[in-house]
Amino acid sequence: MENFKIDIDADGVALVTFDVPGRSMNTLTGSVIAEIPTLVEKIKSDDAIKGVVITSGKPSGFCAGADLGDMASGMLAGGGDLQKAFDTGWALNGAFRALETSGKPVAAAINGLALGGGLEFTLACHYRVVENDPKIQLGLPEIKVGLFPGGGGTQRLTRLIGVQNALMQMAEGKSWRPNDAKGAGVVHEVVEKGQSVEAAKAWIKNGGKAVQPWDDKGFKIPGGGPYHPAGAQVFIMGNAILRKQSYGNYPAVLNMMKAVYEGVQVPIEAGLRIETRYFIKTLMTPQAQAMIRSLFLSKQELDKGAVRPAGVPKSDPKKVTVIGAGMMGAGIAYVQAMAGIETILIDQSQEAADKGKQYAVDLIQKRVSRGHMTQDKADAVLGLITATTDYDLIKGSDLVIEAVFENREIKAAVTKNAEAQLAKGAVFGSNTSTLPITGLAEASVRPEDFIGIHFFSPVDKMMLVEIIMGEKTGDEALAKALDYVLKIKKTPIVVNDSRGFYTSRCFSTFLMEGMAMLEEGYSPVLIDNVGRMTGMPRGPLEMHDDVALDLSYKIAKQTREDLGDKYVPTEGEQIVATMVEQGRYGRKNGKGFYDYDQKPKVIWPGLAELAPTTKGAEFGEGPEALAAVDELKTRLLYRQAVEVARCWEEGVIDDPREGDLGAILGWGFAPWTGGPITFIDQTGLKAFVAKADELTAKYGDRFKVPQLLRDMAEKNETFYGRFAPEKKAA
Ligand code: NAD
Repeated sequence: MENFKIDIDADGVALVTFDVPGRSMNTLTGSVIAEIPTLVEKIKSDDAIKGVVITSGKPSGFCAGADLGDMASGMLAGGGDLQKAFDTGWALNGAFRALETSGKPVAAAINGLALGGGLEFTLACHYRVVENDPKIQLGLPEIKVGLFPGGGGTQRLTRLIGVQNALMQMAEGKSWRPNDAKGAGVVHEVVEKGQSVEAAKAWIKNGGKAVQPWDDKGFKIPGGGPYHPAGAQVFIMGNAILRKQSYGNYPAVLNMMKAVYEGVQVPIEAGLRIETRYFIKTLMTPQAQAMIRSLFLSKQELDKGAVRPAGVPKSDPKKVTVIGAGMMGAGIAYVQAMAGIETILIDQSQEAADKGKQYAVDLIQKRVSRGHMTQDKADAVLGLITATTDYDLIKGSDLVIEAVFENREIKAAVTKNAEAQLAKGAVFGSNTSTLPITGLAEASVRPEDFIGIHFFSPVDKMMLVEIIMGEKTGDEALAKALDYVLKIKKTPIVVNDSRGFYTSRCFSTFLMEGMAMLEEGYSPVLIDNVGRMTGMPRGPLEMHDDVALDLSYKIAKQTREDLGDKYVPTEGEQIVATMVEQGRYGRKNGKGFYDYDQKPKVIWPGLAELAPTTKGAEFGEGPEALAAVDELKTRLLYRQAVEVARCWEEGVIDDPREGDLGAILGWGFAPWTGGPITFIDQTGLKAFVAKADELTAKYGDRFKVPQLLRDMAEKNETFYGRFAPEKKAA
């Protein structure tokens, strides 16, 4: 075996070290899955082995789960041959089942993170010991890529901790820290770092049993199965809750529920077969395939610097200055210090700079108090941040990120002052959200080193960074900006300059379509419900409140000034202007489309005067109501997708992976679609163009597709086919 090493000690305990050669992290590759039966056979047949401890040889973790690219292509290799797909899918489930029925006690010594198939591996062991390391997480996150646990997770976790707890955990894809995992009953023991193997061996030597609870006579599901009164309640409620969360957009959620419902009524062996069948069914859906591609494969590629210009030597930013210690600057300082970067945080007054650093102090203290970080590490991270007003401290920085007020003159002055301190080759990045980079770069004496580095709020939670190329930005600055983003462990996309760049520009169309519906007389409640039904995180009015109505108002004003006669007023502009004049700025002051002083928030009664509801009653209650709702959903998704296509035609984006992932991570574009580019591809170019034409005829030019889409429809092309990333690299 190349992935497992076995050392048998004097007491007959075999220590199995899981260590996939040539990889920094263990994953369940095809070769690992193929070797587990060999491992089990050895355990069964070698009389010298009395018990088994499985641990990882990697410092990075126990196992990060299945290699999804490998797995999906393996299972779908037979085209429509379901038996073949089942056999491939069953290989892992069958191997784990063989492990837990080998007749010898098996303990997992979990010395690093165990996620997805990694945790499922340990669930197929009779005993689990985990080390108390703040870095360790245990969880089943498959749902986040459109799948559900298919290595026995739906069957074993439910039998271990009950249907309700297991379903909640799997539906949210959340992980446990070691002590929480013990509290939840997922692991048996938490020990100090470096002690897991010893503790696991002790369990075996003390007579650990080689039988899983579910193979014991008289086993009952904790909390009861579907035919138990309490258990039945869980399924009734669970169905409703999952439906409310997913709006039926995710086949994985429904199939997981079915696998659990059907699987817990039969012996585990049959339950596992049921799981494999539903797993394959899920894997074959367009939604799962779209999500795996964007949220797993493309994300991995972009996180490894797939779009970094080749030929520029790799850089390692060690000192980075952040100017402007407000909401964004404070967040940026925190994430880069967490990544080990020396950080100078500058504001106009010492007080403002200190306030910015305090943000990091608070977040880090929270981590310490929850046991997720040691005090020593916390002190070291905070020691990296210097809050100051002194521009001299910029000297020696590899990069400066400007996050001052959104004002051209102020930004120009900051650029000049900072550049005076910067060595040649150091990069100046602006975090502007609306001002075109090419214009801002006019204040720079080295526009080739001037670039947009657009973070999202809140910086510590939002995983995307949008890098914007100005007209004169050079490849070296781009490579350095990317090296920085990768170092702080965010996902970068690179776009060309445009008003609103890529993400804000396309996202705003979602808000604007909501405003159009409001102007047409649809009820605000209906509009937001429909928004959520499309798979967006919230409705367009709610999200407008989050963004802030006064910001929307200011952007419209600035754009009007910039464009003069060419300015076309946006939908609902007058409604927003009136609301802002009345002091309704959105969620930030508790007054927007909603009143936030009560929970749950309610629609502001005054909205009925500004935008009376006149439509909706004619929908009736029959199928025509559903069709009307469908039309509204279609408008919200198409409006965004058409804008994405326009960005493509204008050269703002040119890589389908960035277009898709940027949309999902940047503005929450419905994840089930895999992103707007995949949405267009999967709809089919012809069908997409036909529908958009129909919407244009009914609602106006905002749905008009660019010529590019007509050409592609004509030739039956797709974005991922015509603009395959490999072709771009070549
Ligand atoms: P903010 O008002 O919270 O912070 C701006 C900070 O800059 C303040 O602390 C201010 O004192 C400081 N400042 C102003 N002039 C300065 C100068 N000459 N020298 C040093 N410091 C100065 O604003 P914010 O929300 O953090 O936004 C900052 C930038 O980030 C803006 O360009 C904004 O468009 C952009 N941005 C904001 C968001 C968001 O969601 N808020 C998202 C992405 C980008």
